[in-house]
Amino acid sequence: MPTLILNPGRDKSLRRHHPWIFSGAVARIEGTPTPGETIAIVDAKGNTLARGAFSGHSQIVSRIWSFHPDEAIDATFFHHRLQRSLERRHIRSPLPDSDNTALRLVNAESDGLAGVTIDRYGPWLVGQFTSAGAQRWKKTIAEILLEMTGAHGLLERTDGEVCAQEGVPESVGPLLGATPPERIPICEHGLTYAVDPWHGHKTGFYLDQKDNRLLIREGSHGMRVLNTFAFSGGFGLNAMAAGAAQVVHLDSSSTLLAQAEENARLSNLPADRFEYCKGNAFHKLREWRDQHRTFDVIVLDPPKLADSQAGLQRAARAYKDLNWLAFRLLARGGRLLTFSCSGRMPADLFAKVVADAAVDAGREALIQRYLGPPADHPVALAFPEGRYLKGLLCAVD
Ligand code: SAH
Repeated sequence: MPTLILNPGRDKSLRRHHPWIFSGAVARIEGTPTPGETIAIVDAKGNTLARGAFSGHSQIVSRIWSFHPDEAIDATFFHHRLQRSLERRHIRSPLPDSDNTALRLVNAESDGLAGVTIDRYGPWLVGQFTSAGAQRWKKTIAEILLEMTGAHGLLERTDGEVCAQEGVPESVGPLLGATPPERIPICEHGLTYAVDPWHGHKTGFYLDQKDNRLLIREGSHGMRVLNTFAFSGGFGLNAMAAGAAQVVHLDSSSTLLAQAEENARLSNLPADRFEYCKGNAFHKLREWRDQHRTFDVIVLDPPKLADSQAGLQRAARAYKDLNWLAFRLLARGGRLLTFSCSGRMPADLFAKVVADAAVDAGREALIQRYLGPPADHPVALAFPEGRYLKGLLCAVD
């Protein structure tokens, strides 16, 4: 087996079970591993510490599969890992029928399967294989999962900027089993969404906001709700299910607003209490502030605003601007659900930015809840990078 030898003193994070080896930690590589091939990881004194997948094109030279130096990386290994992932989610085959038919089954590094993300939408699986190792084993993983879950088929959605970073080919299409339709109906908290697994963001739906979409129902009865960065409508649909007086969906994409409208129809919600607004949130909120428009509940769920360490300052300003506008638009006694899905934005800095925004907007606000992803998006203790989504539920006077 090819071997990666670490520089002296660069084995610390590995001993704490952090799954990434950066190029700077590598003294040399013995043998000529191909992308995704399993390699042994050895410290400067010659002790074998782990087995990982080799990535020739990434800054992360290897992602660890196992911290047991002798564990074979083969179909049995993946069978065990996938079984563990499903058991963590209380799933025993076949896929259970329930009110919630969409679930993350595998959360990459945090489930011990670096680069492997698998979401379930009803009887279909959608997977991303965003590392050389994940690419190498994707067929095996798909075979095991289809057998374990009884799913009809697994659609691959390996696309986006991560492909160039990791040197993996873009690959979108059926990986195993039957070919899923253009739209997969799913049920979440009793509402129906037509998920677009072929072209939708990520694998088609923001499963990471599942718990928070339910949370917005509390206290939304009779309220005027603004769902900024609406995507396929999730937060607004839940507010309406709780009896909101009015829900405004704001998004820059008319295609997505049309999907939000379709989802409201599929969920039998009253069409006349929804308003759809296409626009740039930064401009639209400012326009509404100038018009003295107010809302009782505002959701701010922007896309990732910080994509690099250098961009963090700029992102902080953008978050502050958005939150400042939201505080200006909130009626007395209103509530703000505000999120950041930028992994680079630390939770405490995010809270500080929101606090500064409230002060500048002249509003007294307090945090009622700290928000995060649901239990099917676990974060390994050794892998804090896995924590990207954070949010605050704020109440304003
Ligand atoms: N809250 C959603 C997910 C939001 S994803 C859910 O629970 O499903 C972010 C959304 O922001 C996308 O739909 C994208 O089209 C939209 N978006 C991105 N930049 C925007 C901008 N400047 N103004 C308005 N919408 C924007």
